[in-house]
Amino acid sequence: MLTGRMMAFPLTITHLWQRAREFFPTQEVVSRLPDKSLHRQTYADFAARCSRLANALKKLGVGPGDRVATLCWNHRQHLEAYYAVPMMGAVVHTLNLRLHPSELLYIAQSAEDSVLIVDRSLWKLYEAFGPKVTSARHVIVVPDAGPAPDGTLDYEALLAAESDEFAWPTLDENDAAMLCYTSGTTGNPKGVLYSHRSTVLHALVSCMTDTLSLRQSDIVLPVVPMFHASAWGLPYSAVLAGAKLVMPGPHLDAVSLLDLMAAEKVTVAAGVPTIWLGILASLDAEPKRWDLASVRSMVIGGSAAPGSMIEGFASRHGLEVTHAWGMTETNPLGTVANVKHSLAGRSPEERLSLRASQGYAVPFVETRHVNDEGSPLPRDGQTFGELEVRGPWVAASYYGGDGADRFTADGWFKTGDVVTLDGDGYMRITDRAKDVIKSGGEWISSVALENALMSHPAVLEAAVFAARHEKWTERPVAAVAFKPGQSATPEELRAHIEGRFAHFWLPDAYVVVAQVPRTSTGKFLKTKLREEHGDMLLSKPAAP
Ligand code: AMP
Repeated sequence: MLTGRMMAFPLTITHLWQRAREFFPTQEVVSRLPDKSLHRQTYADFAARCSRLANALKKLGVGPGDRVATLCWNHRQHLEAYYAVPMMGAVVHTLNLRLHPSELLYIAQSAEDSVLIVDRSLWKLYEAFGPKVTSARHVIVVPDAGPAPDGTLDYEALLAAESDEFAWPTLDENDAAMLCYTSGTTGNPKGVLYSHRSTVLHALVSCMTDTLSLRQSDIVLPVVPMFHASAWGLPYSAVLAGAKLVMPGPHLDAVSLLDLMAAEKVTVAAGVPTIWLGILASLDAEPKRWDLASVRSMVIGGSAAPGSMIEGFASRHGLEVTHAWGMTETNPLGTVANVKHSLAGRSPEERLSLRASQGYAVPFVETRHVNDEGSPLPRDGQTFGELEVRGPWVAASYYGGDGADRFTADGWFKTGDVVTLDGDGYMRITDRAKDVIKSGGEWISSVALENALMSHPAVLEAAVFAARHEKWTERPVAAVAFKPGQSATPEELRAHIEGRFAHFWLPDAYVVVAQVPRTSTGKFLKTKLREEHGDMLLSKPAAP
């Protein structure tokens, strides 16, 4: 046995906080309030306020492992809860404010939240479920839009009464830090517990040049909500890097975001494609209105970023998209679509196709795809199969033991995404397993069709779903939302995508919608489209 080793230094969120306090005390956290004004505080204030929050929570009886829930927009107090709660040994549980009150009640009850931190601006939503959460002992209200209601604790008053120092405990790096629930479009939402170690390693890898490349000089705008997979870890990776954070609060429309990006000279912004489709449409409509020269990367993930959008940002506005894939179960970053040096000499079309793929796995995340029997498939860029992943920030089980069938006996997590992998490791998602269209026994990729339709100049959004069919079992139908003042006929849409796919892939019908229905995290909600239009092809002549 060799003697002599490195220290067993725990990887905890406390270290990120310590760095912010020690090395970047003047760095800023900017938060946009409901009245649209901007609030600025420094990392020194942030660090002191984390101690104050921990002191207050301790007096309220919060102990190790207790769940403290947040029902908040992205802002400085939410950031403080992201740090103070795990650093004191408790677990911060982010509630998704776009869920129905009955879902929020189910989630808060199942998590047994003991304290709820709620924005005053979300009080009506809280009232619809919060009083029924039997485990909740206290409600703390962030006074973002008026004073805390009677019977609740005012966040700012609580902090004002406390000290700037807290005796942070020494934690085990495998202690739970954060609890996030999956969006649960099928079945009940399931909880995923992030550990200190998974959060810190994920933040470190997010700072690598060849992943999201966060750095100290960055000004980071997490448009992705802090209730969606820890805002993709940005509140941790940005603080780790010592970057400035710009929090958008409740104002997530394209014009408000563009105003904020220009005013604060944002360098990196991150969100789901539906947000960026709106931003691209606004920029196309008024190309000279905003100066976005500071922006060096727009991280897009959560659902597939259409190639036409990536290309449109680059060619019309000089803006660079970084396409990434991840899941609540993966903390969430799994793959990033950067073009490898060895492929940089490819044609512009091939490079765009690489950037519009889901990319290759970040360090410590391993990927494979398997057939229905669980056997690994060839990495030939053609063969479809279910993606499985493993790594230090991939869930090994769900909170409370739900969904055990998603974990294989040999240590992989079954993602439910249907993908191809190519010889360079690039992954292409063709569908969620539950959204797969199988027509006459043949698979049709809804994602590929959507991306092609969204390259039509009049199309703002397109979602392709399976409609029942007497002869072929299922046929694709496209729901299309047009840009303001624009339209196209089904024949024009068909002509636009015709040459790119086998004939039997082309949608049988087009449904015009004002907006594609969305999930609580802003993804296209195809179950709703299937519910509403799934029978529209029945009793119609068979497709060619
Ligand atoms: P959630 O846990 O709500 O973030 O959902 C995770 C799922 O979102 C993944 O399993 C994918 O189906 C989908 N997803 C995430 N990122 C991408 C992406 N870049 N392209 C396509 N689908 C994505």
